[in-house]
Amino acid sequence: MQILVLGAGVVGTTSAWYLRQAGHEVTVVERQSRAALETSFANGGQISVSHATPWANPSAPLKLMAWLGKPDAPLRFRPRLDPAQWGWGARFLRECTSRRARYNLHQLVTLGTYSRERLQSLREDLALDYDQVTRGILHFYTDPAEFERAQLPASQMRAFGCAREVIDADRAVALEPALAGARGRLVGATYTADDESGDARKFTQALAQKAADAGVRFLYDTEIVGFEQRRGDVAGVRVIENGVHHTLRADSYVLSLGSFSPLLARQLGLKLSIYPAKGYSITVPVRSPERAYKVSLTDDQYKLVYSRLGDRLRIAGTAELNGYGRDLDLRRCQAIVRRVSDLMPEAGHWDQARFWTGLRPTTPSNLPYIGRSRLRNLFLNTGHGTLGWTHACGSAAALADIVAGRQPDLDFAFTAA
Ligand SMILES: Cc1cc2nc3c(=O)[nH]c(=O)nc-3n(C[C@H](O)[C@H](O)[C@H](O)COP(=O)(O)OP(=O)(O)OC[C@H]3O[C@@H](n4cnc5c(N)ncnc54)[C@H](O)[C@@H]3O)c2cc1C
Repeated sequence: MQILVLGAGVVGTTSAWYLRQAGHEVTVVERQSRAALETSFANGGQISVSHATPWANPSAPLKLMAWLGKPDAPLRFRPRLDPAQWGWGARFLRECTSRRARYNLHQLVTLGTYSRERLQSLREDLALDYDQVTRGILHFYTDPAEFERAQLPASQMRAFGCAREVIDADRAVALEPALAGARGRLVGATYTADDESGDARKFTQALAQKAADAGVRFLYDTEIVGFEQRRGDVAGVRVIENGVHHTLRADSYVLSLGSFSPLLARQLGLKLSIYPAKGYSITVPVRSPERAYKVSLTDDQYKLVYSRLGDRLRIAGTAELNGYGRDLDLRRCQAIVRRVSDLMPEAGHWDQARFWTGLRPTTPSNLPYIGRSRLRNLFLNTGHGTLGWTHACGSAAALADIVAGRQPDLDFAFTAA
């Protein structure tokens, strides 16, 4: 079958890989000049099954209220005259019950575990190198109340098969000696030995090359502007390539346009509840290799994730629900630098930090759309929010099964026609 994959982020590129492996003729359409130049470019780097607490949970509404108007709050809702934003917000509130939060957490752990296994076998099969580190993820806490609140989701994750153990501050420092200088501030930690980290951009670009070698066609610098429809099916994708308008046709289509998926899907009458959540990352050269962390870390109080990418430190976090702008608020960047340099002053050349923002394609439940749509020949693989790197390989492998008419080997709420 001929398949057009729309979007060459980590999700579209992994989709193209698994679909090609299943024997399809695959073409990827991407407006940028390479794969992974938008949200998959400089994310936090974590492959974190243990980061499965959904944003929507019983404590979220009060926290959001407290953070309203604070420019350096970790999660910020900036109300706009935008029905998509308000609709998303209302659905988010409905996901905040403890029953929904538990269900969503279970789903995220299930998809995360499956996906991490798919990533590990792909890495081995293709000898991929993307500054991966397989030393687990250590969540550390500097606020007793935050540590207390983490106990329930950590025990739920363990019940669902994610081995996230609760440890004390001394064990945390033994696992990651770069935290020794901050020992006095640590109140506790959790550790998930099976989690890992790596550079999502390097991975995606390396996989795109392998996919191209295996026969996948990549049409870069090609903007998707709309669709042609016939009897309820997609009959073609209208694009502008080098200034020229034309239509690309295939038997089936996979929508993987990240935060832009709902804008294009709307033209087909599909309402996807995906809203961009702008996040920040900083990338800093390592200054003192022995003082710089090697284990991937999560700083729960500040909602920051830290990954060691070779001789670089990547720290990412914060979320702003404020439309599609990617503008950079220096106060937020400085808040990240302040926090990390305060904890590990000698780890990085903090004055050389490079700043980046990206738009997480976020759903109210944090669960992505994977599977069939109402249109017979349109498949969805999008809306991965805060965990698209963690979930990419599993989502793509499952999607290839669904396209082949097979039931994927995991219990997940796939979308149906
Ligand atoms: C600050 C930050 C930190 C993060 N940290 C982590 C982490 O530690 N671990 C984790 O698992 N996840 C993390 N994420 C989330 C993860 O990066 C995303 O979920 C993931 O990158 C989404 O991938 P995607 O392929 O869906 O979207 P994208 O990477 O945005 O890909 C979509 C592609 O579609 C293309 N496109 C869009 N519109 C059009 C059009 N009209 N025509 C042609 N092409 C188009 C874009 O150019 C883009 O290349 C983080 C995100 C952010 C912002």
